[in-house]
Amino acid sequence: MTEIPESSNFIEEKVEADIAAHGPGYTVCTRFPPEPNGYLHIGHVRALSIDFGIKEKYNGRCNLRMDDTNPAKEDMHYVQAICRDVEWLGYKWDRLTFGSDYYDVTYQFAQELIQKGLAYVCDLSPEQIKEYRGTLTTPGKNSPYRDRTPEENLDLFRRMRAGEFPDGSRVLRAKIDMASPNINMRDPIIYRILRADHYRTGDKWCIYPMYDFAHPIQDAMEGVTHSLCSLEFEDHRPLYNWVIQNVSVPSRPEQTEFARLNITRTIMSKRYLKKLVEQGVVSGWDDPRMPTIAGLRRRGYTPEALKNFCARCGVAKVFSVIEAGFLEHCVREDLNEKALRRMAVIDPVRLVITNYTGEQTVSVENHNAKEELGKREVLFTKELYIEREDFMADPPAKFFRLAPGREVRLKGAYIIKCTGYDTDEQGNVSCVYAEYDPQSLSGMEGANRKVKGTLHWVSARAAVPAEFRLYDYLLDDRDGQDLDFSQRINPDSLVVRQGWCEPALAEAEVGDTFQFVRMGYFRKDEDSTPEKAVFNRVVGLKDSWAKAQR
Ligand code: ATP
Ligand code: MG
Repeated sequence: MTEIPESSNFIEEKVEADIAAHGPGYTVCTRFPPEPNGYLHIGHVRALSIDFGIKEKYNGRCNLRMDDTNPAKEDMHYVQAICRDVEWLGYKWDRLTFGSDYYDVTYQFAQELIQKGLAYVCDLSPEQIKEYRGTLTTPGKNSPYRDRTPEENLDLFRRMRAGEFPDGSRVLRAKIDMASPNINMRDPIIYRILRADHYRTGDKWCIYPMYDFAHPIQDAMEGVTHSLCSLEFEDHRPLYNWVIQNVSVPSRPEQTEFARLNITRTIMSKRYLKKLVEQGVVSGWDDPRMPTIAGLRRRGYTPEALKNFCARCGVAKVFSVIEAGFLEHCVREDLNEKALRRMAVIDPVRLVITNYTGEQTVSVENHNAKEELGKREVLFTKELYIEREDFMADPPAKFFRLAPGREVRLKGAYIIKCTGYDTDEQGNVSCVYAEYDPQSLSGMEGANRKVKGTLHWVSARAAVPAEFRLYDYLLDDRDGQDLDFSQRINPDSLVVRQGWCEPALAEAEVGDTFQFVRMGYFRKDEDSTPEKAVFNRVVGLKDSWAKAQR
């Protein structure tokens, strides 16, 4: 596998400078703060690799914090899925915390702001608040409620909490600057009234803090030193700092932003992924076509491939889109090393070797580049299956596979020559006939007669039935055309084939991954039964990305 660059990025440079400035006894602390309203996706792997990367590189700490201050959408099921995925990637959090752990303390800090004259209860309607806020080019104007006294504000805020007012009738706002060029600083809302059952706190609260107020407080309460997030929060940083400066939090975290990960032909938004699940476009959050960690795992991606991908994409401050082919390149590279080679026929046609009688086992290598992985014995019989596309009745000259009168080698076995074929009523080839050369067994003395093509095969007698799920991108190739994802759904993202595989594969464990010779990398799926193995194609063998780099 290609080496991960050791050089630092701008975040690591900042962390190193802070470590140097603080001297001994200083521990860096980061956090990864997903909202438990869906499954994590490959974009989150970038954030995770940055947050946990800092912990690992500088011997620091990293908390996994469920950012759950948005009651209606959050759920314990998602909390469990997130924990499972982070663990699977191999990241170890120091503490598992919840934004909702901090509701009490956040409420205290809101009262502190009120007492300092830095927050007020505003009775404007949502439409009016929007109107008063102004635009990018015009300043906002002060709310008529802005000059309420701290006493009045405190009374109203406590009554908001006590449930005296209907949802949406009042909000608590920070008193900052309605003329600020940064709209986030124009008296942002920091608390709203919302009667919604929270999956952890139930109906204990009917007011909830807004992200911009809650997040810096949570960071500070946990002693986070570096609060790392994606670029859309850059304009929120002044507000983050304002909160840290104006409430008596126990520490002073700093926020630094990085660019989100985007990948061609890939949806990178939980909201939309959720739609795909709800509308049945995919079978679930872990459908192998999904860019979720759960989907990638089921597809056959490895933690190493995903982390290596993120490391090689690097950490940047500018928007970029990575080729989907590069992600595939990373998993192919990893599986090329790790995956044992096996034979499976995905779209079978029967092959009868007319001059062969009896049966024998032949030795086939377990890895074409790793002799130390040894060989296995595979049963060779008179009737075999080969890949339908490996035979042509009327081939062009450059077709080096099987055709009437032409020779190929059967992998690990003999050279055969095609003598004829049958077709069914529709004209499809139903059986191919061949004769073998008894002197051509692989590895046999004098058997090095060369033929152009080598085909994989399975014995019709010994092979076990298998289902092959061949995946393609969920989205068509119209990246960058500003189309809604729903217009770009690829109707052919899943093709299912019924074929045959070596008996050894029936005994493989769910989750085992193999290279099917000439066909790609496949992982044994959870849907496998004792009667039928099911395999997901992780990725094909052809590396279009690597080719394009040359
Ligand atoms: P989504 O829009 O997919 O729901 P999100 O930002 O709302 O993403 P969160 O659960 O809030 O999802 O994300 C947790 C962390 O992951 C945040 O710090 C966010 O910045 C980061 N993150 C989310 N998507 C990406 C991405 N594509 N690339 C890098 N980081 C991301
Ligand atoms: Mg979010």
